[in-house]
Amino acid sequence: EGEQPKYRRVLLKLSGEALAGNQGYGIDPEVLSAIAAEVKEVVNLGIQLALVIGGGNIFRGVAAASKGMDRASADYMGMLATVMNSLALQDAMEQAGVVTRVLSAIEMREVAEPYIRRRAMRHLEKGRVVIFGAGTGNPYFTTDTAASLRAMEINAEIILKATKVDGIYSADPAKNKDAVKFISLTYLDVLKKGLQVMDATATSLCMDNDLPIMVFNLTVPGNIKRAIMGENIGTIVKG
Ligand code: UDP
Repeated sequence: EGEQPKYRRVLLKLSGEALAGNQGYGIDPEVLSAIAAEVKEVVNLGIQLALVIGGGNIFRGVAAASKGMDRASADYMGMLATVMNSLALQDAMEQAGVVTRVLSAIEMREVAEPYIRRRAMRHLEKGRVVIFGAGTGNPYFTTDTAASLRAMEINAEIILKATKVDGIYSADPAKNKDAVKFISLTYLDVLKKGLQVMDATATSLCMDNDLPIMVFNLTVPGNIKRAIMGENIGTIVKG
């Protein structure tokens, strides 16, 4: 009620698994439309939103490489998986009436625009939701690193990292009853404690450029908006 959002330009990182819903694999259309509805709500507040989506619900490079596949080839497959997820999200958002553009780090002009930084900025300024597909375009990286990189490139104020838990814990809360939740952590805490929130590459990139990350639970309806309004609904990682 008259409340102003804390952030104006935000990068939302969704894991591929988030799209799988309870089936644990592939893409659940109900999850897609729930995300689209929440995105619509924040876009209507005038928030500029960019998305990076993972691919773990379809294909993971490291997992395939551990079974003997060439790592770089496997990673390219993983990046293609993120493009599939991007198209699925785009479709759901457009059905909800949200204008979106998919920008791919790997050129495939029939399917998505190529990633051009200035074009991404222009889309955001026009209120279009930008979905960054194909990660960084390079093997040996993750979509968390892609999220950090793109967030910096577009001058996002924060990375909102959506997960299935409501923040960063001292241990896996699903396996350990004594796990405690952190309200706030420094980048160095995350790196030193070896907390599995984000890989070290992504975390250090954020550290070097002072970009805060908020880890929160996507499965609670309304959480994207709460995070954007500035409520600490999970764990915040900063300097
Ligand atoms: N990937 C890559 N380079 C990137 C981003 C992703 O090679 O810049 C590949 C990598 O194989 C990874 C897969 O894409 O396993 C899916 O991304 P990720 O595991 O980050 O997805 P998430 O865990 O968020 O679902």
